Amino acid sequence: MTATALDNVRIVLVNTSHPGNIGAAARAMKNMGLSRLYLVDPQQYPANEASWRAASAKDVLETAVVVSSLEEAVADCSLVVGTSARGRRIPWPLVTPRECGERAVSEIGGKEPTGHQVAIVFGREDRGMTNEELQVCNYHVHIPSNPDYSSLNLGCAVQVLSYELRMAYLASQEGQLPVFDDWDMPPATSAAQEHYFTHLQETLERLDFLQPGNPRQTMTRLRRLYARVRMDEMELNILRGVLTATQNYVCQSDKKVAELEAQIEALKA
Ligand code: SAH
Repeated sequence: MTATALDNVRIVLVNTSHPGNIGAAARAMKNMGLSRLYLVDPQQYPANEASWRAASAKDVLETAVVVSSLEEAVADCSLVVGTSARGRRIPWPLVTPRECGERAVSEIGGKEPTGHQVAIVFGREDRGMTNEELQVCNYHVHIPSNPDYSSLNLGCAVQVLSYELRMAYLASQEGQLPVFDDWDMPPATSAAQEHYFTHLQETLERLDFLQPGNPRQTMTRLRRLYARVRMDEMELNILRGVLTATQNYVCQSDKKVAELEAQIEALKA
């Protein structure tokens, strides 16, 4: 396959149960010019059925990357989009398949590749994606299907999103879409954001703002805030610096209190 900017978009299938759907996804991808497939903990793979269904897209299967967690599959991506057949309790920024295609192509730069990596993530056939998995994503995309029967077959959902990616890519070749490279800093990757969230949670617990046993709702809402903002590398580093300064300050204050207490004890004695 000829190399194109679409090579910087990966399709991630999470914990797929039917190997036929993996093959169907590979075929849908290759038809639309996508090449990079990531399989997170597939239930049956490799499998003959996947190869049959892939037809002439066996090369996509052969180069598929099998990993054990979603975090691994998207670590170097700056834009991660999750697909969902239904609404969730805490709604996340939602885009249409068309907007998803446009934002993805704008991130990778259709005409002049930026080198930024994008992931479109698909869930399990029976249960979709977990809330934790959906929270790793910047946006959610919902194919506006019939509300009375909204869940598409996994391979078909991959086809719809791959088609929109291709349409947006072709439009960018005619020079109609803006690219993400007019920014002065590269976007923060998923792995860097995960480190930031861990640091943030630790600091908030240290400040007694969060109870160590019960951080979930607040962290979910904070993650959603950052997902909307789309931090760049520099912004993320500044925020980490603020957290480190906060932790150092708390540590110093604790030391001073301990010293004063020791002095009081000494005076009493
Ligand atoms: N019963 C599951 C549906 C799983 S369908 C649920 O309630 O979530 C398998 C996968 O196909 C989904 O996880 C999603 O990745 C994709 N998919 C199916 N229908 C979709 C839709 N209408 N919009 C976006 N993605 C969809």
